[in-house]
Amino acid sequence: MASETLGKNIKPRPPIVVVVGHVDHGKTTLLDYIRKTTVAAREAGGITQAVGAYEIVRAPAAGGPARKITFIDTPGHEAFTAMRSRGAQAADLAVLVVAADEGVKPQTKEAIKILEETKTPFVVALNKIDKVQGGNLEKAKTDLANAGVLLEGYGGQVSYHGVSAKTGEGVSDLLDLILLSTDVENLTYDAAAAASGFVLEARRDPRRGIEASVIVREGTLHRGDAVKTHTASGKVKILEDFTGKAVDVLEPSAPAVIIGFEKLPNVGEVFAVGELKEARSPQAEEAAITQIAKSKPNTLNLILKASDAGSLEALLVVLKSVDKQGGKEINVVEESVGDVTDGDVRRAQATNATIIGFKNKVEKGARNLADAQTVMIITSDVVYDLAKAVEDFLTGKLGPATAGELEVLAVFNQEKLDKQLIGGRVEKGTFRAKASFEILRGSSAPKTSLGTGRALSLREKKSEIATAEKGKEIGILASSQIAIQVGDTLVIHK
Ligand code: GDP
Repeated sequence: MASETLGKNIKPRPPIVVVVGHVDHGKTTLLDYIRKTTVAAREAGGITQAVGAYEIVRAPAAGGPARKITFIDTPGHEAFTAMRSRGAQAADLAVLVVAADEGVKPQTKEAIKILEETKTPFVVALNKIDKVQGGNLEKAKTDLANAGVLLEGYGGQVSYHGVSAKTGEGVSDLLDLILLSTDVENLTYDAAAAASGFVLEARRDPRRGIEASVIVREGTLHRGDAVKTHTASGKVKILEDFTGKAVDVLEPSAPAVIIGFEKLPNVGEVFAVGELKEARSPQAEEAAITQIAKSKPNTLNLILKASDAGSLEALLVVLKSVDKQGGKEINVVEESVGDVTDGDVRRAQATNATIIGFKNKVEKGARNLADAQTVMIITSDVVYDLAKAVEDFLTGKLGPATAGELEVLAVFNQEKLDKQLIGGRVEKGTFRAKASFEILRGSSAPKTSLGTGRALSLREKKSEIATAEKGKEIGILASSQIAIQVGDTLVIHK
């Protein structure tokens, strides 16, 4: 981990720690307890921003200098996996939280697997010791041994500590254990090097513009530095520490907020001042993603994009609740934060995926590309509408076998015949995007068939939708040789 360019500027840096484990085993409570009881957080008067990480100062037990630890404040391994999938070395150490009264659960096993695969060192926090009789930790320890985690004193080397995130018992010792465990890693950075690190969160603030939360891992980050990731670049116009205080300089392993990216970077991406040193190029990443997506049969491939990391997590949770219907399974090819870009559309095309956008926009280039291709984009600010659409895909309701009829009520723009913007009401069945329709005209039945066209995309209010059922009034972007008129009927045949 030490820099190859060891020299006089090499300094130690605090460890970056992530907390993983099964749901309800106390990850959030532990992170909250640590944050509330540490000096740095108290001085800051509470952390109001969603930075996604915080830094604590650990007062030495017996003399010596105070030491810092950076905690990634997003419990759960989704965020962690997102980073790893993009090649970012996110944390130096993980704390695997296992509730002593429950022992190892499915997500504990998942977390162990990820930690092993990514070779991330970890310690175990046996939590909720206040709930087990006489501090009986045997069940949890045996469970862990069965799951391949051999604790110290139980034939293995993995350090652990019993804690109660509720009462705080043992938490202080856990912090010491974290420092002790990372000491052996000899974490250093080169103060003279250009800064690099990874993106934790990214969002668009209506007043401040694009805010990216990052963690600096190497070098020194200055206000005014030019920064880039593989998908975004900009200049550090404002640099803030995790408490929201404006600063000129930040050193590893400090969490920081950068204002100045011109585009939303993706969560988990590596950022750097100067050249990006990431192992995987965007092309390699795309190839890897394509490989993953194509290797799974009976799956519905999705590319998920949301306005911020919290929304992305919410979307994932809701999608899980509709998964595995109609004999099909959701396969998330990629998930990231930001607007839908042409890169997303290209990857969707390559992996035969549908793009789901939550609380975000579709960039113009992406829109044009999707219209020209067979890529379907569904966007909404309501997460349940997206879940419903995905459910319809899984159960085949949105398959090519649906028929529908729409009456044209308005023509908004017809400058180009291959991009006619019209409005209409669904009169029968279901009208769907990416489908061909027949254009019928005439005041009396039978109407005359004039030819065909294609619905490129459908919109309802601000959302982009995949289908519209009978009674709905929608906007349609249509392509046809024929200029569609008010009163026409557009028929999608089975
Ligand atoms: P997470 O899903 O892993 O983030 O779990 P939470 O932190 O949300 O905790 C789940 C529940 O367990 C909450 O009701 C907490 O109050 C409770 N909890 C967490 N830690 C402890 C603990 O050490 N002792 C007891 N008794 N309850 C705890």
